[in-house]
Amino acid sequence: MRILIVEDEESLAQNIQRILLNENYKAECVYNGTDGLEQALTEEYDLIILDVMLPGKDGFEIIRTLRREGLDVPVIMLTARSQVEDKVRGLDEGADDYLTKPFAVPELLARVRSLLRRKSEVSTSVMQLGALELDTAARQARFNGQAVMLTPKEYAILEFLFYNKNRVVSRLSIAEHVWGDQMDLFTMTNFVDVHIKNLRKKLGDAAAYVQTVRGLGYMLKEPT
Ligand code: CA
Repeated sequence: MRILIVEDEESLAQNIQRILLNENYKAECVYNGTDGLEQALTEEYDLIILDVMLPGKDGFEIIRTLRREGLDVPVIMLTARSQVEDKVRGLDEGADDYLTKPFAVPELLARVRSLLRRKSEVSTSVMQLGALELDTAARQARFNGQAVMLTPKEYAILEFLFYNKNRVVSRLSIAEHVWGDQMDLFTMTNFVDVHIKNLRKKLGDAAAYVQTVRGLGYMLKEPT
């Protein structure tokens, strides 16, 4: 998996690169928007991590150009905590996800894995873990072949857990993924617990797949 990092804060870019290299991704840095766009257009990447405020061309201009050129490479935008409108605009321009600076390493990796899996599974659309299945085309969960009826939010949580299966996902990461910036973090993380409870109830015999990892979050894992 080859990842491009476009970020003018060189130390941050190199930190991200180091983290990704540790996880055995190939990762390259460029430090301005002009080089970023040129690299993205001429080389083939599986994912781009794109800062918004860049010298040369800004992140919005880059993503707009990529999408106009028909490139559907997944893009995670990096935005400053204070710039809510940047996230909205980034998603409108065609970004797949965003991270607010400063972010924790596990958050970054969860987003990266989520987008890379989504990309690799578009063609098959059915993810499987034991007897539990998620059909991302039909947006439906099945257990032992039986459909499990979920609300859109419950489905979104389960899908995010599926993309990160066998790994712990923090409540914050789930909340940001499902609700974005629609409410404060305290409310969101409590919402996560409520929705997980409901999700487990609906999963019935498959409830044990959604495991609580005390103090850390949740993990989708086949029960032993
Ligand atoms: Ca910047």
